Amino acid sequence: MENKVTAPVDDAIFKKVVSHAKEYGFVFPSSEIYDGLQAVYDYGQNGVELKNNLKQAWWKAMVQLNDNIVGVDAAIFMHPTTWKASGHVDGFNDPMIDNKDSKKRYRADVLVEERSAALAAAGQKDKGDALEKELARLLEANDLKGVYDLIVREKITCPISGTANWTEVRQFNLMFSTQVGSVADEANTIYLRPETAQGIFVNYLNVQKTGRMKVPFGIAQIGKAFRNEIVARQFTFRMREFEQMEMQFFIQPGSEMKWYDEWKEKRLRWHKAIGLPAEKLRYKPHEKLAHYANAAVDIEFQFPFGFKEIEGIHSRTDFDLGNHEKFSKKKLQYFDPELNKNYVPYVVETSVGADRTFLALLCNAYTEEVTGEGEDRKERVYLKLHPALAPVKAAILPITKKDGLPEKALKIFNDLKMDMNVVYEEKDSIGKRYSRQDVIGTPFCIAVDHQSLEDDTVTIRHRDTTLQERVKIEELRLKIRKEVSFRTILEKI
Ligand code: ATP
Repeated sequence: MENKVTAPVDDAIFKKVVSHAKEYGFVFPSSEIYDGLQAVYDYGQNGVELKNNLKQAWWKAMVQLNDNIVGVDAAIFMHPTTWKASGHVDGFNDPMIDNKDSKKRYRADVLVEERSAALAAAGQKDKGDALEKELARLLEANDLKGVYDLIVREKITCPISGTANWTEVRQFNLMFSTQVGSVADEANTIYLRPETAQGIFVNYLNVQKTGRMKVPFGIAQIGKAFRNEIVARQFTFRMREFEQMEMQFFIQPGSEMKWYDEWKEKRLRWHKAIGLPAEKLRYKPHEKLAHYANAAVDIEFQFPFGFKEIEGIHSRTDFDLGNHEKFSKKKLQYFDPELNKNYVPYVVETSVGADRTFLALLCNAYTEEVTGEGEDRKERVYLKLHPALAPVKAAILPITKKDGLPEKALKIFNDLKMDMNVVYEEKDSIGKRYSRQDVIGTPFCIAVDHQSLEDDTVTIRHRDTTLQERVKIEELRLKIRKEVSFRTILEKI
């Protein structure tokens, strides 16, 4: 009997989220007029606002809230020796396998992991866990023949061709390379960074000295990373160009488990604070530790296609700084006045994908609601995004285009836009305009009506409940500012 490799997927919902993202200006396929470029996406007018807000929520939580964490913005191109020292030239590989009939390429480890998830879903969790353990052991030993044998033994087939006609398993380096300058020879080869972390490590002494930082301290960075992923699927979950939000925390050797536990908890609190529900988040300790880590855990989110990693927390020891010392022949030591000695600090890293968290937010926010029955039955789709993250904070809507209502509404709009992203709309019925704001997750719609002319009040309609309240125009700014403030997130961390 052959086994289907795919884990259970709530395909219908995920498809809706993907088309919603495109239809309402959140995410477009890259260079779509040329039929797109696989695993590369562009953020549209609403997507860029949501993503910027998400990045701000991270930056404020890491840099602004912690007086011992500062930021950097390092270049994407780095000296090629960086990637020798980091282990990426020799070790940043994924095991790949091709199906000879469909000519499709897969990550061999992902095929086995999906099989394990399918077993768990079919009530055979123990069997699935044992399979993952076996895979981890084989990968640890770099036993590619063993991984191939496992795929054959499990009768895993290609979802396209349905056959088990596989090539051998080979290693594939994920770094993109390019040439710097005009001469194309080996010596000029540089890489597009596959992670932002190394830009922090090579600047560790610069920041420590110029910022007079004392261990423990952290350096945070948000930036693009590039990986030539073998299997690029599931929309923005696995892209070839993506954005990471990383923080390296430099500590005394021996204190790593304390900081590892602390960051593990803090980072989970952040995910909850931005609106991801606790029951859709979980920790997953790594079965196989990366070459640089002595402890590692993922924070996973329950996407419609299952629990998947959105953030990694790694105790990286002195691997990176130690290797950069070796390769650069520059001392990267820190003099600890407390211990009265020099050492290479240990590092605990938190590394979260902006695009994956964006996708988690979108999947979580997408809500279809049916109210009433018979003639009163109403269907509504809205994005239940945290107000501080929503692309548009408020829409200002005069209920008619005459009687001075637009002028009154524009006055409110021009005032609010100094503080936040707001829109003004007077076209179509008020109901249609509410729906247009619901689908992009605008938390507040402010309707200006005839009563507004008489007593300087407006109604605020709340997105999630559709309930309306009447408020004084002079109180509007403070009221909305309070609700959309990043403070509402930061207070929960
Ligand atoms: P995976 O096992 O899914 O390939 P990873 O363990 O290689 O991920 P890390 O190297 O720990 O990922 O990177 C940290 C974070 O960067 C991940 O948790 C994820 O959110 C994000 N990330 C990594 N690769 C991609 C990608 N191809 N597309 C989008 N985000 C990514």
